[in-house]
Amino acid sequence: MSKRYFHYPLIVLLSYFSLVFLSGCSSEEQAAPNVAAEAKQQTFKWKLVTTWPKHFPGLGSAPENFAKAVNEMSNGRLQVKVFGAKELVPAMEVFDAVSRGAAEMGHGAAYYWKGKSPASQFFTAVPFGLNAQEMNGWLHYGGGLELWRELYGQFNLVPFAGGSTGVQMAGWFNKEINSVEDLKGLKMRIPGLAGEVLERLGGIPVTLPGGELFTSLQTGSIDATEWVGPYNDLTFGLHKAAKYYYYPGWHEPGAMLEFIVNKDEWNKLPDDLKAIVTYAARAVNQDMLDEYTARNNAALKELVSKHGVQVRHLPEDVLKALKKASDEVIAENIAKDAFAKKVYESFKAFSDDVIPYTEISEKAYIEARK
Ligand code: CA
Repeated sequence: MSKRYFHYPLIVLLSYFSLVFLSGCSSEEQAAPNVAAEAKQQTFKWKLVTTWPKHFPGLGSAPENFAKAVNEMSNGRLQVKVFGAKELVPAMEVFDAVSRGAAEMGHGAAYYWKGKSPASQFFTAVPFGLNAQEMNGWLHYGGGLELWRELYGQFNLVPFAGGSTGVQMAGWFNKEINSVEDLKGLKMRIPGLAGEVLERLGGIPVTLPGGELFTSLQTGSIDATEWVGPYNDLTFGLHKAAKYYYYPGWHEPGAMLEFIVNKDEWNKLPDDLKAIVTYAARAVNQDMLDEYTARNNAALKELVSKHGVQVRHLPEDVLKALKKASDEVIAENIAKDAFAKKVYESFKAFSDDVIPYTEISEKAYIEARK
Protein backbone atom coordinates (compact mmCIF):
# COMPACT_ATOMS: atom_id res chain seq x y z
CA MET A 1 0.00 0.00 0.00
CA SER A 2 1.24 3.50 -0.76
CA LYS A 3 2.58 5.86 1.85
CA ARG A 4 -0.14 8.29 0.91
CA TYR A 5 -2.76 5.80 1.97
CA PHE A 6 -1.50 5.80 5.53
CA HIS A 7 -0.54 9.45 5.88
CA TYR A 8 -3.37 11.13 4.07
CA PRO A 9 -5.97 10.87 6.87
CA LEU A 10 -3.44 12.25 9.35
CA ILE A 11 -2.81 15.28 7.16
CA VAL A 12 -6.55 15.89 6.81
CA LEU A 13 -6.99 15.60 10.57
CA LEU A 14 -4.12 17.99 11.33
CA SER A 15 -5.36 20.55 8.77
CA TYR A 16 -8.83 20.33 10.26
CA PHE A 17 -7.67 20.94 13.83
CA SER A 18 -5.28 23.76 12.88
CA LEU A 19 -8.10 25.51 11.03
CA VAL A 20 -10.61 25.07 13.83
CA PHE A 21 -8.28 25.99 16.68
CA LEU A 22 -6.26 28.75 15.06
CA SER A 23 -8.97 30.61 13.23
CA GLY A 24 -11.97 29.62 15.31
CA CYS A 25 -14.01 29.15 12.08
CA SER A 26 -17.09 26.96 11.98
CA SER A 27 -16.76 23.66 10.11
CA GLU A 28 -18.95 25.02 7.24
CA GLU A 29 -16.68 28.02 6.74
CA GLN A 30 -13.43 26.04 6.60
CA ALA A 31 -14.73 23.28 4.31
CA ALA A 32 -12.52 23.97 1.29
CA PRO A 33 -13.08 21.66 -1.65
CA ASN A 34 -10.35 19.06 -1.87
CA VAL A 35 -9.97 17.03 -5.01
CA ALA A 36 -8.36 14.06 -3.28
CA ALA A 37 -11.06 14.05 -0.64
CA GLU A 38 -13.73 14.05 -3.34
CA ALA A 39 -12.11 11.07 -5.08
CA LYS A 40 -12.19 9.31 -1.74
CA GLN A 41 -15.90 9.93 -1.42
CA GLN A 42 -16.75 8.88 -4.96
CA THR A 43 -18.64 5.61 -5.24
CA PHE A 44 -17.79 3.18 -8.05
CA LYS A 45 -20.19 0.49 -9.24
CA TRP A 46 -18.63 -2.39 -11.15
CA LYS A 47 -20.15 -5.30 -12.99
CA LEU A 48 -18.09 -8.51 -12.71
CA VAL A 49 -18.95 -11.02 -15.45
CA THR A 50 -17.81 -14.63 -15.14
CA THR A 51 -17.35 -17.72 -17.28
CA TRP A 52 -18.99 -19.89 -14.58
CA PRO A 53 -22.56 -20.54 -13.55
CA LYS A 54 -23.57 -18.19 -10.71
CA HIS A 55 -22.44 -19.46 -7.26
CA PHE A 56 -20.72 -22.52 -8.77
CA PRO A 57 -18.61 -24.08 -5.96
CA GLY A 58 -14.98 -22.97 -5.93
CA LEU A 59 -14.78 -21.31 -9.33
CA GLY A 60 -17.92 -19.26 -8.77
CA SER A 61 -17.21 -18.62 -5.08
CA ALA A 62 -14.09 -16.64 -5.99
CA PRO A 63 -15.85 -13.72 -7.71
CA GLU A 64 -18.51 -13.66 -4.96
CA ASN A 65 -15.84 -13.64 -2.23
CA PHE A 66 -13.93 -10.95 -4.10
CA ALA A 67 -17.03 -8.74 -4.39
CA LYS A 68 -17.83 -9.17 -0.70
CA ALA A 69 -14.26 -8.38 0.39
CA VAL A 70 -14.05 -5.27 -1.80
CA ASN A 71 -17.46 -3.98 -0.75
CA GLU A 72 -16.55 -4.41 2.92
CA MET A 73 -13.00 -3.09 2.77
CA SER A 74 -13.98 -0.03 0.77
CA ASN A 75 -16.96 0.64 3.03
CA GLY A 76 -19.19 0.54 -0.04
CA ARG A 77 -17.08 2.95 -2.13
CA LEU A 78 -16.41 0.20 -4.67
CA GLN A 79 -19.51 -1.92 -5.16
CA VAL A 80 -18.96 -5.04 -7.24
CA LYS A 81 -21.90 -7.01 -8.56
CA VAL A 82 -21.30 -10.53 -9.89
CA PHE A 83 -23.03 -11.90 -12.99
CA GLY A 84 -22.84 -15.62 -13.78
CA ALA A 85 -22.29 -16.92 -17.32
CA LYS A 86 -25.09 -15.84 -19.70
CA GLU A 87 -26.61 -13.39 -17.19
CA LEU A 88 -25.00 -10.43 -18.91
CA VAL A 89 -22.73 -12.03 -21.52
CA PRO A 90 -22.08 -15.66 -22.54
CA ALA A 91 -19.10 -17.36 -20.85
CA MET A 92 -16.85 -17.17 -23.88
CA GLU A 93 -17.44 -13.43 -24.34
CA VAL A 94 -16.15 -12.32 -20.94
CA PHE A 95 -12.76 -11.21 -22.29
CA ASP A 96 -14.26 -9.02 -25.03
CA ALA A 97 -16.93 -7.58 -22.75
CA VAL A 98 -14.35 -6.37 -20.22
CA SER A 99 -11.89 -5.30 -22.91
CA ARG A 100 -14.43 -2.96 -24.50
CA GLY A 101 -15.84 -1.81 -21.15
CA ALA A 102 -19.31 -3.40 -21.30
CA ALA A 103 -18.37 -4.77 -17.86
CA GLU A 104 -15.64 -3.33 -15.65
CA MET A 105 -14.35 -6.69 -14.53
CA GLY A 106 -14.31 -10.41 -15.32
CA HIS A 107 -13.38 -13.79 -13.85
CA GLY A 108 -12.41 -16.75 -16.01
CA ALA A 109 -9.38 -18.60 -17.36
CA ALA A 110 -6.75 -17.15 -19.70
CA TYR A 111 -6.56 -20.26 -21.90
CA TYR A 112 -10.11 -19.62 -23.11
CA TRP A 113 -8.63 -16.65 -24.98
CA LYS A 114 -5.96 -18.46 -26.97
CA GLY A 115 -7.66 -17.13 -30.12
CA LYS A 116 -6.65 -13.61 -28.96
CA SER A 117 -3.08 -14.66 -28.21
CA PRO A 118 -1.49 -18.12 -27.91
CA ALA A 119 0.62 -16.70 -25.05
CA SER A 120 -2.49 -16.45 -22.86
CA GLN A 121 -2.54 -20.25 -22.41
CA PHE A 122 0.67 -20.24 -20.37
CA PHE A 123 -1.06 -18.20 -17.66
CA THR A 124 -3.65 -20.93 -16.96
CA ALA A 125 -2.06 -24.31 -17.41
CA VAL A 126 0.91 -25.84 -19.16
CA PRO A 127 0.67 -29.63 -19.63
CA PHE A 128 3.21 -31.29 -17.32
CA GLY A 129 4.13 -27.79 -16.09
CA LEU A 130 4.07 -26.05 -12.71
CA ASN A 131 1.73 -27.06 -9.89
CA ALA A 132 -0.38 -24.49 -8.02
CA GLN A 133 2.24 -23.61 -5.46
CA GLU A 134 4.94 -23.19 -8.11
CA MET A 135 2.61 -21.27 -10.42
CA ASN A 136 1.88 -18.74 -7.66
CA GLY A 137 5.62 -18.43 -7.14
CA TRP A 138 6.26 -17.76 -10.84
CA LEU A 139 3.46 -15.21 -11.14
CA HIS A 140 4.16 -13.24 -7.98
CA TYR A 141 7.92 -13.62 -7.53
CA GLY A 142 9.22 -14.91 -10.86
CA GLY A 143 8.13 -12.24 -13.35
CA GLY A 144 5.01 -14.07 -14.63
CA LEU A 145 2.49 -11.42 -13.64
CA GLU A 146 4.52 -8.64 -15.29
CA LEU A 147 4.43 -10.55 -18.60
CA TRP A 148 0.70 -11.22 -18.18
CA ARG A 149 0.14 -7.46 -17.64
CA GLU A 150 2.22 -6.66 -20.72
CA LEU A 151 0.20 -9.08 -22.86
CA TYR A 152 -3.25 -8.05 -21.59
CA GLY A 153 -2.32 -4.36 -21.74
CA GLN A 154 -2.65 -4.75 -25.53
CA PHE A 155 -6.32 -5.61 -24.93
CA ASN A 156 -6.98 -2.74 -22.50
CA LEU A 157 -7.04 -5.17 -19.57
CA VAL A 158 -5.25 -5.54 -16.23
CA PRO A 159 -5.03 -9.20 -15.10
CA PHE A 160 -4.68 -10.65 -11.58
CA ALA A 161 -4.25 -14.24 -10.46
CA GLY A 162 -7.81 -15.32 -9.63
CA GLY A 163 -7.51 -18.62 -7.78
CA SER A 164 -6.14 -22.07 -8.47
CA THR A 165 -7.89 -25.41 -8.46
CA GLY A 166 -4.68 -27.30 -7.72
CA VAL A 167 -3.95 -30.44 -9.76
CA GLN A 168 -7.08 -31.42 -11.65
CA MET A 169 -8.38 -34.86 -12.58
CA ALA A 170 -7.59 -36.13 -16.10
CA GLY A 171 -11.32 -36.37 -16.74
CA TRP A 172 -14.40 -38.49 -17.41
CA PHE A 173 -14.37 -41.16 -20.10
CA ASN A 174 -17.13 -43.45 -21.29
CA LYS A 175 -14.58 -46.16 -22.11
CA GLU A 176 -11.34 -47.33 -20.52
CA ILE A 177 -8.08 -45.85 -21.71
CA ASN A 178 -5.61 -48.73 -21.87
CA SER A 179 -3.29 -47.51 -24.59
CA VAL A 180 -2.54 -44.52 -26.81
CA GLU A 181 -4.74 -46.21 -29.45
CA ASP A 182 -7.76 -45.54 -27.24
CA LEU A 183 -7.23 -41.79 -27.68
CA LYS A 184 -7.68 -42.04 -31.45
CA GLY A 185 -10.97 -40.53 -32.54
CA LEU A 186 -11.82 -39.62 -28.96
CA LYS A 187 -13.92 -36.46 -28.94
CA MET A 188 -13.08 -34.73 -25.71
CA ARG A 189 -13.74 -31.35 -24.15
CA ILE A 190 -10.24 -30.21 -23.26
CA PRO A 191 -9.24 -26.55 -23.74
CA GLY A 192 -5.89 -24.87 -24.23
CA LEU A 193 -2.55 -26.45 -25.11
CA ALA A 194 -3.78 -29.82 -23.81
CA GLY A 195 -6.43 -29.89 -26.55
CA GLU A 196 -3.69 -29.63 -29.16
CA VAL A 197 -1.82 -32.44 -27.39
CA LEU A 198 -4.84 -34.72 -27.64
CA GLU A 199 -5.22 -33.82 -31.31
CA ARG A 200 -1.59 -34.80 -31.96
CA LEU A 201 -2.37 -38.26 -30.58
CA GLY A 202 -5.41 -38.61 -32.85
CA GLY A 203 -8.15 -37.24 -30.59
CA ILE A 204 -10.65 -34.49 -31.36
CA PRO A 205 -10.49 -31.63 -28.83
CA VAL A 206 -13.50 -29.42 -28.15
CA THR A 207 -13.77 -26.23 -26.06
CA LEU A 208 -17.10 -25.90 -24.25
CA PRO A 209 -18.08 -23.83 -21.21
CA GLY A 210 -18.69 -25.85 -18.02
CA GLY A 211 -22.45 -25.40 -18.17
CA GLU A 212 -22.65 -27.43 -21.41
CA LEU A 213 -20.55 -30.43 -20.34
CA PHE A 214 -23.14 -32.71 -18.79
CA THR A 215 -25.57 -32.57 -21.72
CA SER A 216 -22.78 -32.93 -24.29
CA LEU A 217 -21.42 -36.00 -22.54
CA GLN A 218 -24.80 -37.53 -21.87
CA THR A 219 -26.06 -37.09 -25.42
CA GLY A 220 -22.81 -38.50 -26.80
CA SER A 221 -21.81 -35.35 -28.70
CA ILE A 222 -18.50 -35.77 -26.82
CA ASP A 223 -16.93 -39.05 -25.57
CA ALA A 224 -14.99 -37.58 -22.70
CA THR A 225 -14.47 -34.37 -20.78
CA GLU A 226 -12.11 -32.91 -18.31
CA TRP A 227 -13.56 -30.28 -15.98
CA VAL A 228 -11.86 -29.68 -12.65
CA GLY A 229 -11.85 -32.28 -9.88
CA PRO A 230 -14.23 -34.20 -7.60
CA TYR A 231 -15.70 -31.14 -5.85
CA ASN A 232 -16.81 -29.45 -9.08
CA ASP A 233 -17.39 -32.54 -11.19
CA LEU A 234 -19.84 -33.94 -8.62
CA THR A 235 -21.82 -30.68 -8.75
CA PHE A 236 -22.23 -31.02 -12.52
CA GLY A 237 -23.25 -34.68 -12.15
CA LEU A 238 -20.63 -35.81 -14.67
CA HIS A 239 -20.62 -39.27 -13.04
CA LYS A 240 -24.13 -39.76 -14.40
CA ALA A 241 -22.82 -39.38 -17.95
CA ALA A 242 -19.51 -41.30 -17.81
CA LYS A 243 -18.22 -44.15 -15.66
CA TYR A 244 -14.43 -43.88 -15.70
CA TYR A 245 -12.69 -41.10 -13.81
CA TYR A 246 -9.00 -40.82 -14.67
CA TYR A 247 -6.03 -39.19 -12.95
CA PRO A 248 -3.56 -37.48 -12.79
CA GLY A 249 -4.43 -34.13 -14.37
CA TRP A 250 -1.36 -33.97 -16.61
CA HIS A 251 -3.07 -31.26 -18.64
CA GLU A 252 -3.82 -28.87 -15.78
CA PRO A 253 -1.36 -29.42 -12.94
CA GLY A 254 -2.18 -26.12 -11.21
CA ALA A 255 -4.90 -24.45 -13.24
CA MET A 256 -4.73 -20.73 -12.55
CA LEU A 257 -7.83 -18.58 -13.00
CA GLU A 258 -7.88 -14.87 -13.64
CA PHE A 259 -9.52 -11.63 -12.64
CA ILE A 260 -9.44 -9.07 -15.43
CA VAL A 261 -10.16 -5.37 -15.04
CA ASN A 262 -10.84 -2.87 -17.82
CA LYS A 263 -7.78 -0.62 -17.88
CA ASP A 264 -9.71 2.67 -18.23
CA GLU A 265 -11.87 1.77 -15.23
CA TRP A 266 -8.78 0.71 -13.28
CA ASN A 267 -7.14 4.08 -14.00
CA LYS A 268 -10.19 5.92 -12.61
CA LEU A 269 -9.77 4.35 -9.15
CA PRO A 270 -7.99 6.28 -6.37
CA ASP A 271 -4.89 4.54 -5.01
CA ASP A 272 -6.55 3.10 -1.93
CA LEU A 273 -9.28 1.37 -3.99
CA LYS A 274 -6.60 0.02 -6.35
CA ALA A 275 -4.88 -1.44 -3.28
CA ILE A 276 -8.15 -2.95 -2.07
CA VAL A 277 -8.77 -4.63 -5.46
CA THR A 278 -5.17 -5.90 -5.55
CA TYR A 279 -5.16 -7.40 -2.06
CA ALA A 280 -8.71 -8.77 -2.30
CA ALA A 281 -7.73 -10.60 -5.50
CA ARG A 282 -4.59 -11.94 -3.84
CA ALA A 283 -6.56 -13.20 -0.83
CA VAL A 284 -9.23 -14.82 -2.99
CA ASN A 285 -6.51 -16.41 -5.13
CA GLN A 286 -5.21 -18.33 -2.12
CA ASP A 287 -8.67 -18.94 -0.68
CA MET A 288 -9.76 -20.93 -3.72
CA LEU A 289 -6.91 -23.40 -3.31
CA ASP A 290 -7.82 -23.76 0.37
CA GLU A 291 -11.42 -24.54 -0.58
CA TYR A 292 -10.46 -27.20 -3.13
CA THR A 293 -7.99 -28.77 -0.71
CA ALA A 294 -10.74 -29.10 1.88
CA ARG A 295 -13.56 -30.26 -0.43
CA ASN A 296 -12.10 -32.49 -3.16
CA ASN A 297 -11.44 -35.50 -0.95
CA ALA A 298 -14.97 -35.67 0.50
CA ALA A 299 -16.45 -35.34 -2.99
CA LEU A 300 -14.24 -38.14 -4.32
CA LYS A 301 -15.40 -40.43 -1.50
CA GLU A 302 -19.00 -39.70 -2.41
CA LEU A 303 -18.36 -40.34 -6.12
CA VAL A 304 -16.83 -43.71 -5.37
CA SER A 305 -18.91 -45.03 -2.47
CA LYS A 306 -22.30 -43.58 -3.38
CA HIS A 307 -22.16 -43.43 -7.15
CA GLY A 308 -19.86 -46.35 -7.98
CA VAL A 309 -17.42 -44.28 -10.02
CA GLN A 310 -14.40 -46.21 -11.32
CA VAL A 311 -11.23 -44.25 -10.51
CA ARG A 312 -8.34 -45.11 -12.82
CA HIS A 313 -4.69 -44.08 -13.19
CA LEU A 314 -3.74 -43.24 -16.77
CA PRO A 315 -1.30 -45.93 -18.00
CA GLU A 316 2.36 -44.90 -17.84
CA ASP A 317 2.88 -45.30 -21.60
CA VAL A 318 -0.14 -43.04 -22.27
CA LEU A 319 1.32 -40.40 -19.92
CA LYS A 320 4.68 -40.74 -21.64
CA ALA A 321 3.10 -40.20 -25.07
CA LEU A 322 1.14 -37.22 -23.75
CA LYS A 323 4.33 -35.72 -22.31
CA LYS A 324 6.19 -36.11 -25.61
CA ALA A 325 3.29 -34.60 -27.56
CA SER A 326 3.08 -31.73 -25.01
CA ASP A 327 6.72 -30.80 -25.58
CA GLU A 328 6.11 -30.74 -29.34
CA VAL A 329 2.93 -28.68 -29.06
CA ILE A 330 4.62 -26.14 -26.80
CA ALA A 331 7.61 -25.87 -29.16
CA GLU A 332 5.27 -25.24 -32.11
CA ASN A 333 3.20 -22.67 -30.22
CA ILE A 334 6.22 -20.62 -29.22
CA ALA A 335 7.75 -20.85 -32.70
CA LYS A 336 4.60 -19.24 -34.14
CA ASP A 337 4.27 -16.36 -31.68
CA ALA A 338 7.02 -14.13 -30.33
CA PHE A 339 5.19 -13.18 -27.15
CA ALA A 340 4.32 -16.81 -26.39
CA LYS A 341 8.04 -17.56 -26.73
CA LYS A 342 8.93 -14.77 -24.31
CA VAL A 343 6.36 -16.01 -21.76
CA TYR A 344 7.40 -19.63 -22.09
CA GLU A 345 11.09 -18.78 -21.70
CA SER A 346 10.29 -17.12 -18.37
CA PHE A 347 8.04 -20.04 -17.35
CA LYS A 348 10.69 -22.60 -18.34
CA ALA A 349 13.54 -20.80 -16.59
CA PHE A 350 11.46 -20.63 -13.41
CA SER A 351 10.52 -24.34 -13.78
CA ASP A 352 14.15 -25.36 -14.19
CA ASP A 353 15.01 -23.51 -11.00
CA VAL A 354 12.03 -24.52 -8.87
CA ILE A 355 11.50 -28.19 -9.79
CA PRO A 356 14.76 -29.53 -8.29
CA TYR A 357 13.83 -27.94 -4.98
CA THR A 358 10.24 -29.26 -5.16
CA GLU A 359 11.80 -32.72 -5.60
CA ILE A 360 13.66 -32.54 -2.30
CA SER A 361 10.95 -30.62 -0.41
CA GLU A 362 7.26 -31.26 -1.27
CA LYS A 363 7.79 -34.46 -3.25
CA ALA A 364 10.31 -35.97 -0.82
CA TYR A 365 8.07 -35.11 2.08
CA ILE A 366 4.97 -36.63 0.44
CA GLU A 367 6.96 -39.79 -0.22
CA ALA A 368 8.23 -39.85 3.36
CA ARG A 369 4.74 -39.30 4.76
CA LYS A 370 3.55 -42.60 3.28
CA1 CA B 1 -10.03 -28.11 -16.41
